[in-house]
Amino acid sequence: MPNHTTRIAVIGAGIGGLAASIALTRIAGVEVTVFEQAHQLAEVGAGFGVAPNGQRVLDRLGLLDATKSAGAVMEGPDFYRNADGKLIAEGAYSDSADRYHTIGMHRADFVDALRKALPDGMVHTGHKLTSISATDSGVRLHFENGVDAEFDAVVGADGIHSVVQESITRPSDPVYAGAIAYRGVLDARHVPDDWPMRIQIWMGKDKHFMCYPLRQRTLFNYVGFVSSDRAIGESWSAAGDVEELAAEFAGDEWDPRLREFISRIDKTFWWGLYDREPLRNWSRGRVTLLGDAAHPMLPHAGQGVNQALEDSMTLALFVREGARTGDLVTAFKRYASARMQRTAIVQAASRRGGSQRYSHDEFQVRRRRDAELRTGREFRRSYIFDYDSVAVAEKSLARAS
Ligand SMILES: Cc1cc2nc3c(=O)[nH]c(=O)nc-3n(C[C@H](O)[C@H](O)[C@H](O)COP(=O)(O)OP(=O)(O)OC[C@H]3O[C@@H](n4cnc5c(N)ncnc54)[C@H](O)[C@@H]3O)c2cc1C
Repeated sequence: MPNHTTRIAVIGAGIGGLAASIALTRIAGVEVTVFEQAHQLAEVGAGFGVAPNGQRVLDRLGLLDATKSAGAVMEGPDFYRNADGKLIAEGAYSDSADRYHTIGMHRADFVDALRKALPDGMVHTGHKLTSISATDSGVRLHFENGVDAEFDAVVGADGIHSVVQESITRPSDPVYAGAIAYRGVLDARHVPDDWPMRIQIWMGKDKHFMCYPLRQRTLFNYVGFVSSDRAIGESWSAAGDVEELAAEFAGDEWDPRLREFISRIDKTFWWGLYDREPLRNWSRGRVTLLGDAAHPMLPHAGQGVNQALEDSMTLALFVREGARTGDLVTAFKRYASARMQRTAIVQAASRRGGSQRYSHDEFQVRRRRDAELRTGREFRRSYIFDYDSVAVAEKSLARAS
């Protein structure tokens, strides 16, 4: 048994790092310090969906009510439409038990809710990690500002350009998905009163457009995905051109209601779509990874944040055991084993979701696409949304005892 409180450093105060810090504190009972390179936590205006599998984690952490009040609960299943607006299929928006319904969430609102759940002083901004070295009993972290600090272990939640990853495995190269995305938010006052409060996706040749409500339905998130060989960097937040976005969805083949929605947009960011092949390993010694540092994925399954939430809960349950036995190395290894296959499948599903939606005109392909959308709904509900990270980790822990 260890004779001191286990001290863990989390690198990165994005959604993954904050959620992991809450889970490690509340579930594993360890002492956490978070280091973030930015001087303050600021988020660009964009949203994401908190899916049922992510909500199950938040529920367990006591954060579901705060999440619901900050977000917008969808009123019903997703609408998949042809470019002209015709409804093709409904998508899954809830788990099989119909307990959790997808919540649209502004990133800034979620970061704020997570921050409030952590004690003051836990997050150290202005600390950019540059390297990690192993000590006899832990790790020493080196920061660009000259600070060095020692911990029992470190969790890299430092995103797609992870520095922590370098001390575990050879980084995999970014893979361009052949598309760019225009994204941003629109004030709900600019949207007709009868606009559906759910995820809607219009699919046309080589492009698709998605929107859904956020922030108690006072805002809408939108993303216009366009196939492109224009190589723009792996950034989430470069300023884009509103007129260019409108021109992409301007033809008569596009639903007039959608064109009206787009005409109200006055600001957009754009973003090149990249992911990476799954890593061969996530944990080495007292260093492990979580969130985008471990498994960056395309946004088409809406799972980047939700997989980071699952990671956080699984990690906390194994660390709780590791802190009890004094064996964090094994705890990290078992955490990685529990998570790697699942996230690799979700990474692949995200790629597949993208190729379905950049549909082509040929009838054959469309028919196949529509059939896949209908069957994909079941995969989404049962494989993705019903996943219970607590049950999976507890089963694994029980097997070992
Ligand atoms: C602006 C933005 C918009 C996004 N939009 C979508 C979306 O629409 N759909 C979707 O599916 N996913 C989206 N994602 C991805 C999704 O948010 C992530 O999959 C999920 O939140 C998990 O991210 P993360 O916390 O692992 O990494 P990130 O959110 O990238 O956070 C990493 C954090 O680590 C910090 N950091 C990095 N390097 C260092 C270092 N060396 N030292 C200290 N700190 C460091 C960064 O400043 C950052 O705060 C977006 C991500 C971002 C950043």
